[in-house]
Amino acid sequence: HRSKSTGLPGAKERTLVAVKPDGVQRRLVGQVIQRFEQRGFKLVGLKMLQVSEDLLSEHYCQLRQKPFYPNLVHYMTSGPVVVMVWEGHNVVQTSRTMVGHTNPTEAQAGTIRGDFSVHVSRNVVHASDSLEGAQREIQLWFQAKDLLDWDCCDQASTSEV
Ligand code: GDP
Ligand code: MG
Repeated sequence: HRSKSTGLPGAKERTLVAVKPDGVQRRLVGQVIQRFEQRGFKLVGLKMLQVSEDLLSEHYCQLRQKPFYPNLVHYMTSGPVVVMVWEGHNVVQTSRTMVGHTNPTEAQAGTIRGDFSVHVSRNVVHASDSLEGAQREIQLWFQAKDLLDWDCCDQASTSEV
């Protein structure tokens, strides 16, 4: 379908991005948001919360059997996270490129992980890895009423003189 604001096909695609506890503690929230804004994506949902183990085990349900899972739970529940929904053309794939490789050692400079992190267990951000994953995660973290549809102020308004 078509977005009213841009008219480009696929412009309504959405993904979930989170600044993890280390990113919040290192005051990186603003820089993460800035990168998504300047790339051209639209922020449609945002909140800060301390994650429960229940929510986290749903979020990372595919990783429960991994040897690092207990450490991942400890890391992700160690402080507040800032979780966001970003919207725009190919936002799922482009977000993954912007975030960079899971292991910061492999992450290219210019990516968020490549610029701000050194260890896989403190890699600053999360981004959904597929369209299906994004839909699942957005529903898990947000209520539909807390995702907002809005148009840009540079759109012509018929009600203004
Ligand atoms: P992502 O989608 O790039 O975040 O990577 P995954 O979905 O595979 O893993 C989720 C998160 O678990 C990663 O972002 C890391 O924080 C953590 N993680 C993944 N692999 C490892 C690992 O081998 N060791 C540790 N300690 N943490 C890991
Ligand atoms: Mg993942």
